[in-house]
Amino acid sequence: MKILVTGGAGFIGSAVIRHILSDTDYQVVNLDSLTYAGNLDSIPATLLSSQYVFECVDICNREDVDRVFQQHQPDIVMHLAAESHVDRSIENPNCFVETNIIGTYNLLESARVYWLSLADEKKASFRFHHISTDEVFGDLAGKDGLFVETTAYDPSSPYSATKASADHLVRAWLRTYGLPTLITNCSNNYGPYHFPEKLIPHMILNALNGQALPIYGDGLQVRDWLYVDDHARALVLVAIKGQIGESYNIGGHNEKRNIDVVNTLCDALETLAPDKPDGIGHYRDLITFVSDRPGHDLRYAIDASKIQRELGWQPEETFETGINKTVQWYLDNTRWWQRVLSGDYQLTRRGENANGQ
Ligand code: NAD
Repeated sequence: MKILVTGGAGFIGSAVIRHILSDTDYQVVNLDSLTYAGNLDSIPATLLSSQYVFECVDICNREDVDRVFQQHQPDIVMHLAAESHVDRSIENPNCFVETNIIGTYNLLESARVYWLSLADEKKASFRFHHISTDEVFGDLAGKDGLFVETTAYDPSSPYSATKASADHLVRAWLRTYGLPTLITNCSNNYGPYHFPEKLIPHMILNALNGQALPIYGDGLQVRDWLYVDDHARALVLVAIKGQIGESYNIGGHNEKRNIDVVNTLCDALETLAPDKPDGIGHYRDLITFVSDRPGHDLRYAIDASKIQRELGWQPEETFETGINKTVQWYLDNTRWWQRVLSGDYQLTRRGENANGQ
């Protein structure tokens, strides 16, 4: 079994690759253009072997993507490459349209041509798994319900609108061309190797440095949080065992307000990192409220019962165990995040086209 993972140097893609390399004997091809969010340090050298190949390729470059399909002949595609940060999509939507829409279109076309060229048996088992977000469903403000797989799309930000577009393209390629596709829509992830611009690592690193913990608006925005390794297991399960043509919601049953997430982090830090920078009484004292993000959705919440019922997946971590593991990971892995903050991580081009050597 050979799996082509796009975006495998990112936060979730690298968790998927670590899971595949640690727990399976599948071959994996990591296709990633190494934007600012791509970090090859997130796949530790100890895991690299002939099981793994890295391809520094942009999904918007059709020729290069075609070459990767021809050269590596994957059985499954797991498509995670994307621009993923909502604030950046508000500042500069262009690269979100390019990568998330045009890039997904390119990949679908490349996959379709490759799939049509396959011999019957390999063609029958080929799968294209598109990894999406719960943000395509929009805002649940003032509503009690949960997102189910059939909830109508109503995206709010340039990020979620481009991800929704990509989902529509994937469904069209299934319906029109018969390309065997699956989609997953997941809630907010957190955990090790998370780029420091995202809420949880940003707060951990600011707190450790005695800097302000800025919270958008009143901090009452609700998100459902899932530990990234639980997501990685769910994704590989869907890629291999999911029903073609179906979509699956993935979530952690952890609806939390942003302010409560930050308070929980502060409390974990009090226990795990009691030696604070000079002048700091309690980590919670660092919390400050800043102007809200434009168009900020108030509440997302996922009903993940379908994947549990049909594929037997459920999260292993509670929010509390996952947060403690995450804080401890950032305390134990200062080199990883210091190289991100200094920019040195971008100098790493380890393993390029060379079986990870
Ligand atoms: P990330 O930003 O950490 O990683 C994205 C990866 O894609 C990076 O390695 C980057 O180099 C690569 N990439 C970007 N543009 C590319 C291009 N044009 N060609 C090739 N590679 C490119 O993102 P993430 O948080 O790991 O998210 C992965 C996927 O999961 C995304 O599709 C995202 O929409 C989805 N998702 C994320 C979350 C979350 O909480 N982070 C939740 C649900 C769904």
